[in-house]
Parts: sequence; C-alpha cells; structure tokens
Amino acid sequence: MAAKHRAPRGTQDVLPQDSWRWQRVEAAFRDTCARYAYREIRTPLFEDTELFVHGTGEGTEIVTKQMYTFEDRGGRSLTLRPEGTPPVMRAYLEHELGAGGGIRKFHYIAPIFRYERPQAGRYRQHTQLGVEAIGAPGPDIDAEVIALFQDFLGAIGLSGAVTHLSSIGCANCRPALSAALREFFGPKLEGLCDFCRARYETNPLRILDCKVPADIEARQGAPSALNHICEECRDHFAGVRAALDALAVPYEVDPTIVRGLDYYSRTAFEVIHPSLGAKDVIMGGGRYDGLAETLGGSPTPGIGFGSGLERLLLSLGDGASPRGLEVYVAAASPEAREAAFTLTIELRRAGVPADLDYTQRSLRAQMREAARLGARFAALLGEDELKADTVTARDMNNGEQRSVPRPEIVEHLAALCAAQGEAKR
Ligand SMILES: [Zn+2]
Ligand SMILES: [Zn+2]
Repeated sequence: MAAKHRAPRGTQDVLPQDSWRWQRVEAAFRDTCARYAYREIRTPLFEDTELFVHGTGEGTEIVTKQMYTFEDRGGRSLTLRPEGTPPVMRAYLEHELGAGGGIRKFHYIAPIFRYERPQAGRYRQHTQLGVEAIGAPGPDIDAEVIALFQDFLGAIGLSGAVTHLSSIGCANCRPALSAALREFFGPKLEGLCDFCRARYETNPLRILDCKVPADIEARQGAPSALNHICEECRDHFAGVRAALDALAVPYEVDPTIVRGLDYYSRTAFEVIHPSLGAKDVIMGGGRYDGLAETLGGSPTPGIGFGSGLERLLLSLGDGASPRGLEVYVAAASPEAREAAFTLTIELRRAGVPADLDYTQRSLRAQMREAARLGARFAALLGEDELKADTVTARDMNNGEQRSVPRPEIVEHLAALCAAQGEAKR
C-alpha cells in the first residue's frame, strides 16, 4: 500500500541506517572547531524577513526566488533561514558579543531552507556546517578558516578536494573593477540573462557568478579582479597566501571565484571536489567586512564559510558502519519474557546498549533480529535458566555459549563488551 503522506519535495528523511554517517561528520566538525577555538552558536530556525533582505541582499536570487517566507498569526513576516551568516551577525550585534574588542569565533550546524530545483545533494532543506570569525581584519584569520576546513576534511577522510582562492577587492577598488567589467560586458549585454543585465547596472561583479551556461561562455576573458584591486587589497591577498604557504595548506589562485554582494570584500574561496563534477562546490566562503554595517552595526570585519553536509556525504561515499547494539536479550518461553525485560533494563543501566523483542515473537525470530541489529552477544532466558537462576550468554560471532549465574550476568556481559571495545581500538 502506498503511503498516504510523503516527505515534501526536496526534503529527505535521514533513516537510522544512514544517520551514523551524519553523526560521524558532525562529530568531526565539532571536534575540529573545538581545536580551533570556534564555539558553537545556535540561532532560531526563522528570523524577521528583513534580516535576509538586508543581509543576503535585495535582488539576489535567494531573496527574490528562493526564500520560504510566511506571515505568522501576528502578521509578522518571517523567513526560514536561507543562509547561515546573517543570523550569526544579527546575534553578534544584538548581544554585543564584540564588547571589549578582539575576535569572536563561532561554528554552527544548522538547517538551511531554499526553494530550489532539487538535484543530487541539493535539497530544499539542507544542513550547513559553518564558521564565522568576527572582529579581525586578517589576513591570518582568513588562512585559519581555510586551514580549519582542510583539517576537517582530513578528519572525515575526504581527500581530493581543491581550495580555490581569490580576492574581490574592497570598497575603494571595487569602482575601478566594476568599470572594467562594464567595459568588457557592454558589447555582450544583449546576450546575457535578465539577471545579468540588471547586475550590469547594479553590481557587474555578480555576472561572474551567474550559473546560466551562455553567460559562463560570455565571461571567457573577462577582466580578472586580481588585476584591478588596490594596493592594500593586494597586500592582504599576499598575506593570506603567505599564511597558507606557512601552514602547508594547498590552494589554487582562481580569479573566477566571486562573492557578488556589496558587503563582501577581499578574500573569497571555494572548495571543489571532483567526485561531484568540475564545478561542484562543497564549501564556499569569504570575507564580509561590510555586513555588520549593512545590518546597522558599527564597522566590524568578518570572515566565514558554509559547507553543505549532504554534498559532503555524497563525496565521502560509504564506510563501515559502527556497531550499535551490544546485547540482545532473548526469551525462549513466554514465562521468561518478564525476566528478559528486567535484565535488559539492568544492562542499559550498567552502560551496555541492549534490546529485546516486544512482540511475542518466536526464539528463532528473536535470534534473527539479534543478527540484523548486529548484536555482539545474546543473553538467553528460558525455562531451564529460570529454574537454575542462570542466563546463557552466547557470543554472536562464533556461537560459543556459557551459563552464567543470574546475579553475575550484568557484570559479565559489561566486562566482555568493554574488552571487545578495547580490542577494536
Ligand atoms: Zn581594495
Ligand atoms: Zn546571467
């Protein structure tokens, strides 16, 4: 029978047989962030719509086409978080986290909502791993966030990713760069998409970010930002590169990397993994020195990145799943069920992951279930065991059995599980 209700288009359920992969990546990310001293921040799932209109940018594709915006019962316009950075900056400003000066470093693992065409690894609700470092102009911190991400990829065993790095200049040199881009795109204007024709007027840098194939073609030979940035920006970029070299972090200079919004400046980077195709980005980030002011704060430099967890998992492939269950407690007779239930709870209270049948199934079915769950041991209780006040402990790998006095069984199994855990390590 077909299910009546299905998950909404562009969303997915992470089922128990897969969620361990998520947990592994999330744990590695949290661990890497802790080592780099990026503390966790959690912001609401939704914010005032205005935050994203200002913080993501009026006229951007995200704001015009992709936001999940709704009115609540109080008539407020709210939007499900379509981007990670604006809420963090909003919280930073609201709670005056920068008081006293210095840098504040954050990480988050948060769902992101965008109304996009669903495709492999892209969902309308996806999970973003991100960091934000607010309060320092760089360039050392720029290199640090890139190094952090590479260490994280190492921790999850993902190799082959390439970091692409560029600088998009600052408010001082952006006008000259825009002028050069307008000169280049002027003769090609008719062939560009509607968005790019608008971008030509407002922010021609963003034409370099368009995903329309004809526009990607049209920008062949476009002026490189790196040739038009001012001396301070050149120094900053040289500083980022020197710091990355000193850390032995590999990267490629790639002037096609842009961040189209006005508040972005200088360092921009993407990490691309070949398993997803040439242009498939598993992480994007950059410096957003103008964002705090855009949101009504005082000028505050910042830099960060976001990485889609689902795309990382696609690149990562499969791995051996960790064992979950240690002991399956099986009852060989109806009379033994109560004793099996009590023993299961005792094992759990002793720190041993344990489970049992709740549906009156046969012993054979219970043993099949034990194997399906990957239990290391089965604890068998039947008439004989109840009479003798014992439990039969079976090693599920080799079938060896021994009878253990009931008062000793919890300690016995706990010790066996601990010993096997040690041997595996
Ligand atoms: Zn500049
Ligand atoms: Zn375009």
